[in-house]
Amino acid sequence: FSILADLVKNVGGDKIEVSALVGPNGDAHVFSPSPADAKTVAAAKVMVVNGLGLEGWMTRLVQASGSKAPMVVATTGIKPRNMEEDGKQQIDPHAWQSIANAKVYVANIRDGLSKADPPNADAYAANAAAYLVRLDALEGEVKAAIARIPADHRKIITTHDAFGYFGAAYGMAFISPEGVSTDSEPSAKEVARIITQIKVQKIPAVFMENISDPRLMQQISRETGAKIGGTLYSDALSDQKGPAASYIEMMHNNIRQLSIALMS
Ligand code: ZN
Repeated sequence: FSILADLVKNVGGDKIEVSALVGPNGDAHVFSPSPADAKTVAAAKVMVVNGLGLEGWMTRLVQASGSKAPMVVATTGIKPRNMEEDGKQQIDPHAWQSIANAKVYVANIRDGLSKADPPNADAYAANAAAYLVRLDALEGEVKAAIARIPADHRKIITTHDAFGYFGAAYGMAFISPEGVSTDSEPSAKEVARIITQIKVQKIPAVFMENISDPRLMQQISRETGAKIGGTLYSDALSDQKGPAASYIEMMHNNIRQLSIALMS
């Protein structure tokens, strides 16, 4: 998917060509691969997946493609966040929303590309090192931006539970009517529960997500008076002209939208 593809591009540089199966503004939770996607996979020398249950469709796609290419699981070594949902424990796959985790992704991608293509290992190491410096700077910016938001304003509603790692890393509460996947609509009871919670906890803003239907958030905003805070990029980048064309721009966009809505 597009976020992972951007991390891979930053490590691979001009030594690789990257295809994302799930493109800009696409939803990796509910993707249905086409025959053309099976061809893309069959032609790949290396596959990179998020793991943690995000790409449930990948196993069948790889089988259909006949690919024997190595698969790099970018979240290897990351401590997964568990969430209770409908009485069941669910693994939260959105680990990339913590920049500390994104650095682990970069290290895993570097190691995976180097193993698959040893002659270019030095280039992958140099690219990864340069990109990690940029991620360090980004992490400082995100922490500083969130620290400027008054502590009692640091709680918002999003459509699905994509910001658990962000919230845990930077000190912010995200509450969602949908769970860690987008594969089911929230029940009326769940929406009613969120509406009560917004009123009781005086949650100042609800946010749209680029991959989700905005109508639910618009309805919740109307019924609670919580303002609509703009669009957060959760599981996919924007297209090249949009405000989140890369991982770093996505983080900049998200902290800008959070700051605008929650500082006032
Ligand atoms: Zn998601």
